[in-house]
Amino acid sequence: MGQQADNTGATIAAYLDEMVALRRDLHRHPELGYDEHRTSEIVADKLAAWGYQVTKGVGKTGVVGTLQNGNGPKRLGIRADMDALPIAEATGLPYASNTPGKMHACGHDGHTTILLTSARYLAETRDFSGTLNVIFQPAEEGGAGARRMIRDGLFTRFPCDTVFGLHNWPGVPTGQFGFISGPAMASVDKVTVRIIGKGGHGARPQETVDPVVASASFIMALQSIVSRNIDPLDAAVITVGTIHAGIAPNVIPDSVELELTVRTFRKDVQENIKARIQTLAKAQAESYGAVAEVDYPSGYPVLVNHADETEFARQVALDHFGTARVEQEFRPISASEDFAFMLQEIPGSYLFIGNGDSAPLHSPLYNFNDEILPSAARYWVKLTETYLAKNPSDKPI
Ligand SMILES: [Zn+2]
Ligand SMILES: [Zn+2]
Repeated sequence: MGQQADNTGATIAAYLDEMVALRRDLHRHPELGYDEHRTSEIVADKLAAWGYQVTKGVGKTGVVGTLQNGNGPKRLGIRADMDALPIAEATGLPYASNTPGKMHACGHDGHTTILLTSARYLAETRDFSGTLNVIFQPAEEGGAGARRMIRDGLFTRFPCDTVFGLHNWPGVPTGQFGFISGPAMASVDKVTVRIIGKGGHGARPQETVDPVVASASFIMALQSIVSRNIDPLDAAVITVGTIHAGIAPNVIPDSVELELTVRTFRKDVQENIKARIQTLAKAQAESYGAVAEVDYPSGYPVLVNHADETEFARQVALDHFGTARVEQEFRPISASEDFAFMLQEIPGSYLFIGNGDSAPLHSPLYNFNDEILPSAARYWVKLTETYLAKNPSDKPI
């Protein structure tokens, strides 16, 4: 099957002005995780108007739209995220955020617009047989909105055989598709360590237990985990991002608080590092007569793309956009993404689309590239029409 000539591109191109207007409206009105009330209202109203069965309040502010067509047995999920970030926008764009300190700096305004546009096209043309669930999730940025939707029965109330999602990617040519089979994005754990000693006069250290010295030793010991405890062929990062102690140069403080971020690409590596950090914190503190308290809540897991579904998604891009539009060597990414929770439940794949030469994600200068809207919307349409093909012999997985 080569590149197919069809009307999808032309039809979606005709939506372009509306798509751009919607994306910029969402951009102007950013809402943080679990506060996406206006955004989810817009999503729900549009889906209902196009004939979707709409369920609001899945995982607080999440929305699911279901469209069944024909009697095909397969059930497809496509997910977009809706939340913004607590960042002050500095783009100076005419449609910049109207809310001080909040900004769509990760392009979730674009992801929402892309999926809505595809949903509209698929409702109007209905060239598929089966059940389509479009999933609009809250709180991707640290709030684990995907996990909250799952705990709220996402995949039992709206069963899906497979689920897909996408993220725009700055630095990759505009509209280029990227696929990664297997571990694609890192796990992330945020760890807080308190080292508690006994404060006192800076000139009489013998009467104190200095937690600053103990924490310095702990930080150096941390450097041995990746270099000495992890297989050299596995990747991992441990960063001490904050360290707070003391108020005066001549006073030894009672305690030191450190915050760490830990990233890995394998669950066993994630667990190994967790055990090592806990052991080292306690042992290092103890060796100075201090005590360590470690708060290690579980963060986002490694995002692992399933092989068959990734191959299917890649083939859809090759068939409908051609080889020149598909990056052959898309490398795993050390950022994290809570779509990982969905991929722990059912098979699927998370893919990337180039945002061109833009400022990086989470930068106050970042802007989603509207040029990728039509391609990305057409991609979801083609993926749906292929997965939920009317002719069963066309079904690839
Ligand atoms: Zn982000
Ligand atoms: Zn994002």
